[in-house]
Amino acid sequence: MFLNMKRAKLLALGMAICFLLIHILMFNVFLQCNVVPMARFNIFSIAFYLSMLFVVHKGWLPFYTYAVYTEVAAHMTLAVILTGWESGFQVTLIGMNVLAFYAEYTGRVLKLKFLPVLPLSIVGMFLYLWSCVYLHYHPAPYALPEIAELRLSLLWGIIVFVVCIFILQLMVIIAHTSQEKLGYQLSHDQLTGLPNRYYLSKKFETLRKNDKTYWIAISDIDDFKKINDNYGHDCGDYILKTVGEILSSKGVKCSRWGGEEYMFAEEQSETIPDEFSFLDSLRRDIASYPFIYDGKNIGVTMTFGLALSSGRDDIEAVIRDADAKLYEGKHRGKNIVVDANNSLEEQKS
Ligand code: GH3
Ligand code: MG
Ligand code: MG
Repeated sequence: MFLNMKRAKLLALGMAICFLLIHILMFNVFLQCNVVPMARFNIFSIAFYLSMLFVVHKGWLPFYTYAVYTEVAAHMTLAVILTGWESGFQVTLIGMNVLAFYAEYTGRVLKLKFLPVLPLSIVGMFLYLWSCVYLHYHPAPYALPEIAELRLSLLWGIIVFVVCIFILQLMVIIAHTSQEKLGYQLSHDQLTGLPNRYYLSKKFETLRKNDKTYWIAISDIDDFKKINDNYGHDCGDYILKTVGEILSSKGVKCSRWGGEEYMFAEEQSETIPDEFSFLDSLRRDIASYPFIYDGKNIGVTMTFGLALSSGRDDIEAVIRDADAKLYEGKHRGKNIVVDANNSLEEQKS
């Protein structure tokens, strides 16, 4: 998983250290500019972020998020009220929201008891707008020299942009990774790791659309119930997984159709010039494979039914045909590949 507690704590720790360094810097700036109330506030902030290192170490991330948001909102509002709009402190109230929503997302993913951060953001917005109006009617008592205003505005601009870009890029990566993972889970069988019926339904759509001849083969493990009964369900699972590996070992995608049945659904191509021989070689590979479970040798065989699409545009009919050939194979003693050429039923009719 991309997001885990260790990574979340590491990011929170990094942020706490950055905020601590910023407040040490701010303490010096305010001291030099004689903004005594803000210099005092920054002594509190330095102590606050030192204690936050402990909070992060303990993994109290929800508390950390609310506490940091409150500190930033209080510090920045007071700073802008005292030093004026031109000092640029207010932009941090906007940048904080990206961090807060990222923290909420992390909290939800990690199943922490996390309250929504939306109320905090609304308070942040209110403070931003209120400071703007307030300063319009009450000039800032500690207006800074112009050069200090310029430097501070640049500093806050850089910090807010870097934080926003970093967090938003991280969110894109997280969203993309989760989407890919979900897509994979949706289309793959958990036990064997093979593509599943959902994958096949998409594959059928492509085969339907393309105007090329395709082949469908359904294969079924012979007497699989006996394997489960004699050696246990876990052994059955081991057989299912191993058979899946053998069937996929020749570079053609094999899917799990359900239970102990597998399916190939492919367009005819140069790679497999003769589908019957291809399947028969797989049948022989399985029959000769040394399946060993719990120290016991287990004989496994498989029956295959093969059908071609030529002359039919209904994929369900091709699947039914492959299924019929499979069942003919079962009636003819199993461990066999049956197609139109060697089907006794087809020769009868
Ligand atoms: P046949 O040769 O005619 O195919 O007989 P069979 O015993 O293989 O077929 P049957 O349909 O009677 O039994 C299939 C068994 O497959 C029954 C079911 O419990 C078992 N099975 C289905 N899915 C799984 C699974 O995921 N794991 C295990 N261990 N067994 C499964
Ligand atoms: Mg079977
Ligand atoms: Mg079956």
